[in-house]
Amino acid sequence: MAKTSEVEIILVGNELLKGERRDSHAQFIGNLIGTIGVRLTRAHIVPDDREIIGDTVRRRMRSARAIVVSGGLGPTHDDITREAVADGLGASLEFREDQWKWIVGVFSRFNKTPHESNKRQAYFPPGSEVIPNALGTAPGFMIEKDGCLVAVLPGPPRELRPMMESTVLDKLQSIFRRDPLFTETFRTTGIGESDMTPKVGPLFANFEKEFVVSSLPHLGGVDVVLTARTDGDLKKLKKRADKFEASLREILGAHVFGKGTRSFQAVVGDLLIKRGETLGVSESLTGGLIGKNLTDTPGSSAYLLADVVAYSNESKVEFVGVRKASLKKHGAVSEVVCREMAAGIRARTDATYGLATTGIAGPDGGTKEKPVGLTYFGLASGDGEEIRHRVFPGDRITIRERVAYATLYLLYRKLTRV
Ligand code: ATP
Ligand code: MG
Repeated sequence: MAKTSEVEIILVGNELLKGERRDSHAQFIGNLIGTIGVRLTRAHIVPDDREIIGDTVRRRMRSARAIVVSGGLGPTHDDITREAVADGLGASLEFREDQWKWIVGVFSRFNKTPHESNKRQAYFPPGSEVIPNALGTAPGFMIEKDGCLVAVLPGPPRELRPMMESTVLDKLQSIFRRDPLFTETFRTTGIGESDMTPKVGPLFANFEKEFVVSSLPHLGGVDVVLTARTDGDLKKLKKRADKFEASLREILGAHVFGKGTRSFQAVVGDLLIKRGETLGVSESLTGGLIGKNLTDTPGSSAYLLADVVAYSNESKVEFVGVRKASLKKHGAVSEVVCREMAAGIRARTDATYGLATTGIAGPDGGTKEKPVGLTYFGLASGDGEEIRHRVFPGDRITIRERVAYATLYLLYRKLTRV
C-alpha cells in the first residue's frame, strides 16, 4: 500500500493524557529525524490501554512508512505496550533467552536479582531486532511488516533518546536515504511578531521560492527559521541564506542577537567577554533564575562575579546595601529599592554592571496599587541606573522567566545599543 505519511509516533501513557507529565518525545524525535531530512507527520497520544494501542498501531501502519512507539515497556502491570504492539502487528511474543541473560546481567551489576515480572521484558515479536538499552532494563525492538517499520522504545527520555540516536536513526536513514534539508535559524529579541511582520514581510516573500520561512515566537522574541524547499545545491542555498541574513540584520539591527542554537544568555556573555566587562546580579522575585540562566553557559565565570538572592528585606540591607529607610518608605517592590539593589550589587562586586529584580510573582501578595506581576527591574552602570517597571502577565513560573529575560535584555541593549 502506498505510504502517505513518513514517520508517526505513538506516545503511550495515562500520565501524558492526564497532564501529569508533559511529552518531550515529539520535540526530540521531530528534531532528530529532521537532521536526516525526514519528517514527523503525526503524533498520537494514547492511554495505557492494550486495545487502543494495538488498534492505533494496526491502523497507522497502513499509512506510515515508520512508527515509533514509546512507553510502557517496564515490568509493572500497567506496562502493556509490547503485548499491544504484538496485537497490532498480528504477531505473538516469543521468549529470548539471550535477552533474559542480558537483563539478569544488568541486575547483578547492582547486586540484585530480577523479579519474575521482569521476564516479560525478554519477550519480543518473532523476527524483531532488539534495540539495546544502555541505561535501563527494558530493551526496545523494531520490526518491519507490510512496508512499515515499527520501533518500540521505553518511555523515560534518558533511555529513549540514546536508543533513537544510536539505532533507530540509522535504520530510518537507510529507509529514507535523504539528504538533510538545509536549515538556518536566526534569533531575534525585543520585538514581537506583530511588530516584526510588516517590517520583514517583503524580505520573506523574496526568499519564498527556495525557502519555507517561518517565525516561531519564544519568551523574549521571535526565531526566524529558513528551511530549504528541496535539497538543491548546498553552496547556493548557503549563499542565499547569507543574503537573507544580511537583509534581516539591516532591517532589524541588533534585534537579531544570534544564529543557530546559542542561547540569549550565552550571547550576552559573549558580548561581555569581548568587552572585558563583568556583572553582578541581585535578585528578589527571580530567586536566582538570572544567575542560573547565565551559569548554564560554560565559561560564565569570566563575567558573572556574583548573584545574590536577596529575598528578605534584611538580606537586601545586609548583602546588597539597600537602605532601611528606603524599604520602610517605599516597600521592597519599588523603583527606589530596585535602584539601590542594582547600584549596591555593582558597588559591592566592583563589576562593570549590576542587575536587579524585585516584584510580586504571585499568586498571592498582590494589592490594587501593586498587583501580581508588578516588577521593577534595572541595570546599573558607570552611566547611572536605568530602572523599568512593568506588570508581567502569566503564572508565577512564567512571570519569573519573563522578568529574568527582560532584565538581561536591558543589559543586552546597553551592550549593543539596540
Ligand atoms: P519504565 O521501565 O521506567 O516503567 P516504561 O517504558 O514502562 O519505562 P513508562 O512507564 O511509560 O515507560 O514511563 C516511564 C517514565 O517516562 C515516566 O516518568 C513517564 O512520565 C516518562 N515518559 C513516558 N513517556 C514520555 C513522553 N512522551 N515524554 C516525556 N516523558 C515520558
Ligand atoms: Mg512503566
